[in-house]
Amino acid sequence: MEKISCEVVRDLLESYQEELVTDTTNKIIEQHLKKCEECRKIERKMQLQMELQREQRQKREKTFCKKLISYRYEILGFFTGVVAILGIFLLVVVVQELAMELFW
Ligand SMILES: [Zn+2]
Repeated sequence: MEKISCEVVRDLLESYQEELVTDTTNKIIEQHLKKCEECRKIERKMQLQMELQREQRQKREKTFCKKLISYRYEILGFFTGVVAILGIFLLVVVVQELAMELFW
C-alpha cells in the first residue's frame, strides 16, 4: 500500500468524511488514521464539528417550522379579517339597495 503524508490525508479528510473519495483513497486514509494519532485527532475534531453543524442546522429548521406555524395562524387571521370586512361591506351594499327599493 502506498504511503501518503499527513498533509495529504488532512487535505482529503473533509471529502473522506462526506464519503466523496474512492474506495482506494478511503482505505489509504483509514490505514493512515490507524497509525497516525495526530491525523486521528484532527479527524475526530472535524467529525465533532460536522455533527455540531448538523445539530445547529436541525435546530434552525425546527425554529423555522415553528415560526412558519405561528405565521400561518397570523395569515389565517388576516384572511378571516379580510373575508369578514368584505362580508360586512357586501351586507351594507345589499341593505342599501333594499332600502332604496323600499323607500324610493
Ligand atoms: Zn497523519
